[in-house]
Amino acid sequence: NKALRKAVIAGNWKMNKNRQEAATLIGELKEKVAGAGCDVVICVPYTNLETALSNTNGSNIKVGAENCHWAKSGAFTGEVSADMLAEMGVQYVIIGHSERRQYFGETDVTVQQRVRAALDAGLTVILCVGEMLEQREQGVTSELVAMQTKIALGGVSEEEMARIIIAYEPVWAIGTGRTATAEQANEVCKLIRDTIASLYSQKVADATTIQYGGSMNAGNAADLLAQPDVDGGLIGGASLKAPDFAAIVEAAS
Ligand code: PGA
Repeated sequence: NKALRKAVIAGNWKMNKNRQEAATLIGELKEKVAGAGCDVVICVPYTNLETALSNTNGSNIKVGAENCHWAKSGAFTGEVSADMLAEMGVQYVIIGHSERRQYFGETDVTVQQRVRAALDAGLTVILCVGEMLEQREQGVTSELVAMQTKIALGGVSEEEMARIIIAYEPVWAIGTGRTATAEQANEVCKLIRDTIASLYSQKVADATTIQYGGSMNAGNAADLLAQPDVDGGLIGGASLKAPDFAAIVEAAS
């Protein structure tokens, strides 16, 4: 029952936008999404967090980072801790994005550790799971996504599930313009919900926001978001343009 949970549209800017561009985009976005009937989040590069926080102040746009480390502090050159993000006023963090898994050696275990650190710091996690094309073709999508979900949530309490959003992102749909069909998206979002029900309870599963991500845009958002188990979107490319992102927010409202 969709009425039991919040629709969340989150932008994932990835490694895009300098500070000036960030300020401009946020300025445009603020007006366009002011009346949103869903939660609106922008996840931005570390270098844009300060700009994003100050420029969204007083608006309904919430700010997230795109990753965080699992340790509180220490000898981890180039990394940023969840506590550092929380201390700035950041509220959300993406964990386990497929680009982190593919290019930066992220594993289910390090994803679990980062989820733990983010929750301990008081952040809300957008946990990404999803299969690669070869895995879909081999017919192992369900097993794989269920396993990614279970490992990442290892040690997450029922109470903490209120601060977990799951984003189902089929890797073959990310940045390719090839969106999953609404039925494919719903099928795996439902599977994730059933996995949560088996780990916790149906009540927790019904209250968990599960997003779809992968070439979601102004044209296909309404169809995807109309699915019973798709509660929002994690938006890459289309989050970089205010009219496109605002149209997706509108479709979710
Ligand atoms: P995309 O990216 O919307 O550009 O496909 C989604 C994501 O990677 O989160």
